[in-house]
Amino acid sequence: MPPREEFPTKGLEGAPSNDIGWHFGTPVPNAKGNIICKLCGKVVKGGITRFKEHIAHKTGNVAPCPNVTGVIRESMMNILKESNTKKIDKKRRRGG
Ligand SMILES: [Zn+2]
Repeated sequence: MPPREEFPTKGLEGAPSNDIGWHFGTPVPNAKGNIICKLCGKVVKGGITRFKEHIAHKTGNVAPCPNVTGVIRESMMNILKESNTKKIDKKRRRGG
């Protein structure tokens, strides 16, 4: 039986920030904002949010990851959507 696909729910120990994206990428030394994809080896420029768009296949800013599995891609897309919703909520509350 193949191993079950799982998506991590916590930040990675020793990562630059408590962000789920670091499970799938490694920061490039001496190049802030550049992240090497652990799945396909591509260097994504523009920070961890842009990198998560690469994993989630959210097109527009970055090329999609060719090696990501369906479970991981969908989970990452949900995380991106959730963080967008939170931002909108904050703005709306301020206007009161
Ligand atoms: Zn990739």
